Amino acid sequence: MQDTSLYRAWAEVDTHAMRHNLGVVQRFLPTHKRMAIVKAEAYGHGLEGVVRALDDADIEFFGVATPAEARRVQACGCRTSPFILGPCFPAEREAIVQNGWRAALCSLEEAEHFNSLGALYGKKVNLHINVDTGMGRAGLLPQDLPGVGEKLRQMENLHIEGVYSHLSAAAEDISFTHRQIQSYEQAVAELTNRLDIPYRHLCSSSAVFNYNVPCTNMVRLGRILYGYSPMPSPYNKELRTSLTLYSRVTLLRTLPSDHGVSYNHTYITDRTTKVATIGIGFGDGYLHYLSNTGARVYLNGSYCPVLGRITMDQIMVDVTHMRGVQPGDVAEIMGPHVPWEELTARAKTIPSNIITSITGRVPRIYLP
Ligand SMILES: *Cc1c(COP(=O)(O)O)cnc(C)c1O
Repeated sequence: MQDTSLYRAWAEVDTHAMRHNLGVVQRFLPTHKRMAIVKAEAYGHGLEGVVRALDDADIEFFGVATPAEARRVQACGCRTSPFILGPCFPAEREAIVQNGWRAALCSLEEAEHFNSLGALYGKKVNLHINVDTGMGRAGLLPQDLPGVGEKLRQMENLHIEGVYSHLSAAAEDISFTHRQIQSYEQAVAELTNRLDIPYRHLCSSSAVFNYNVPCTNMVRLGRILYGYSPMPSPYNKELRTSLTLYSRVTLLRTLPSDHGVSYNHTYITDRTTKVATIGIGFGDGYLHYLSNTGARVYLNGSYCPVLGRITMDQIMVDVTHMRGVQPGDVAEIMGPHVPWEELTARAKTIPSNIITSITGRVPRIYLP
């Protein structure tokens, strides 16, 4: 194991947990294929580390947001192709074609451009038609689909490898989600009339365990891969979280009563207070929004409340109730004792926001 003794903050990443989570999904949907979403530093876990660990885990594609992320996946030398989920600029399409990356198709103009680039480079371009069934973010609208299948069929350098859509409220609005599913099913029927489309995918983490879409054969796994499913299901209990964020006590001090702590003195001691300074702050991804929310860290077997505002590099916690705390002691900032969900609720945000906020200053340590 790496020596962390001089680290102020680090993230321990358990790629075995990710493999386990893939297995949980596989048991639930044995005939579906899986796309592992590794955008945004693999949800804060570190893109390269996750890609290398999962390349042989029976995954069809690595989902990324941009060509720059696709390039990083490719540079890992893995077999699994990146799939670019987000829109690309025309000037990025050449690299997509040359490298054989998968991309979303949102318009016929894009298709024509890709088709001519395919001719130029003598390559078949693998595209997945994105249908906007209600997300309002990207894709072709269902009413614009008639005729599209035939036009695409005539573009000889394209291989329409997939058709997909994205759910906008799978965890919150079941009846709207059913309407999106129906709209997707109609789109698949319309397009497969003219095209042989091997991959059909709609569900991501908030839907995989809770909706059945028989015309699909792949799921896109972001949060679930990392052990966080937003929907109740018996399968949720089997998921394992894959990241624990740690920091260290850097300093121990005793402050008198009536002493302000941190910026603007939003906390003032009401007794003689033993304060541990801990080497993590919003510059590491411990969100400033957690200030004065009851946030706590887990240190030497007990919970310690964060006092006052979170600063860029440090937080102060109350250890008056504890004995023997020493500089260098390890505090769990997020993990089994301080779950992602707790921080999410305190910061009034969504889980993915918490996890993708961990910055580049925080070393990622991959469990062997
Ligand atoms: C980010 C993203 C996902 C992953 O979503 P999770 O809820 O984390 O599983 C899936 N599909 C698309 C199109 C995305 O942009």
